Amino acid sequence: MDYFTYRDGTMCAEDVPISKIAAEVGTPFYLYSSAALLHHFQLFDSALESMDHQVFYAMKAASNQAILKLLADAGAGMDVVSGGEYARARSAGVPGELIVFSGVGKTRAEMVIALGGGIRQFNVESEPEMQALSEVATEIGQVAPITIRINPNVDAKTHSKISTGKKEDKFGIPILRAREVFAMAAKLPGLKVVGIDVHIGSQLTELEPYGLAYEMVAELTEILRADGHEISRLDLGGGLGIAYKSINDNPPTPEDYAALVREKVGHLGCQIEIEPGRFIVGNAGILVSEIIYVKSGEDRKFLIIDGAMNDLIRPALYGAHHEITPVQQPICDAEYENYDVVGPVCESGDTFAKGRSLPSMLAGDLVAFHSAGAYGAVMASEYNSRPLIPEVMVSGSQFAVIRERPSLDDMINRDVLPKWY
Ligand SMILES: *Cc1c(COP(=O)(O)O)cnc(C)c1O
Repeated sequence: MDYFTYRDGTMCAEDVPISKIAAEVGTPFYLYSSAALLHHFQLFDSALESMDHQVFYAMKAASNQAILKLLADAGAGMDVVSGGEYARARSAGVPGELIVFSGVGKTRAEMVIALGGGIRQFNVESEPEMQALSEVATEIGQVAPITIRINPNVDAKTHSKISTGKKEDKFGIPILRAREVFAMAAKLPGLKVVGIDVHIGSQLTELEPYGLAYEMVAELTEILRADGHEISRLDLGGGLGIAYKSINDNPPTPEDYAALVREKVGHLGCQIEIEPGRFIVGNAGILVSEIIYVKSGEDRKFLIIDGAMNDLIRPALYGAHHEITPVQQPICDAEYENYDVVGPVCESGDTFAKGRSLPSMLAGDLVAFHSAGAYGAVMASEYNSRPLIPEVMVSGSQFAVIRERPSLDDMINRDVLPKWY
């Protein structure tokens, strides 16, 4: 279901014309549909209904507190990967019992923050981390619930930069050493083993790698239980892919995924935890930008827009494809041209699309970049001294700025000249 559609000749987000938001907020900006966010969360939640389960939104995909609160109110927990994300989740009203802490490099300071504020579990990724957590927890007189992330050495068949479950990736402990590491955890003070964690990558467009990994998790559960460990939770990670191209892309659905989970691990009586990020927010957000110039090169035409790689880095970083559509609906017999869609940043890498077929465009026209909700705003920077762009949320016929555009002064006044100047 698409929440960004043409109505009366202009693209709307739910019931709000995007041109109206652009006139008030200025371009470029990120725009999220709350109905889409809730719909995607509920697809997962209801697909897993027949099993004891909890969905933890992987908030690194988009971490604005308005998004977190919307999902938390609908029943989502949060998967955090830093002390900053933990604090954001708490600030959005998420209770500690609904926060799981993932990541390979948790510092002692971050462990203290999470233990102090309450935490459902740490997903531990190495022996030294386990040792550190044991020491920190013991020092403050607490017991830290942990799962241990295993690395199943499975090819997720996704982009190498977002594959996380192969033996050459930095994540988890090799599954071959799992028994040894769980035995070590059981002996350490201040820790309580509660389960197994696995996350093999992002933007998975096939279920088979999940099947392979979850079979290994099921087998390991039986082995660890026989060794005397209490395995009551299985954190199965996130990673379900989304359609970035309106045609051709056909990723598995949450129902397909849930059926696989039931088949592979449903018999174990564990609570199932999942950590979707991209699936929930990816297609619930767009980037809206205005064309500054239409420039004719020697043998191609450039649309130079006011959004750039610092606002949306996915095309430059991963070669990612985003559908680009005009906000004004093209007339039926519109002429199409091939454009390179580029930003103003002084790098040729600041290219969103090459030779993209679009109806003839003029300076001042608005364009929407689709599937920009995940790993968009959160990866933005101020490269070229371009202030972070605002985030806006719609709900029915209302919209609200959920992160303001900083002024140039806000941005440059963060610099401090040394006192010896
Ligand atoms: C990034 C990440 C996720 C979310 O991945 P998506 O592809 O956005 O669903 C879940 N769990 C962990 C541990 C992650 O690092």
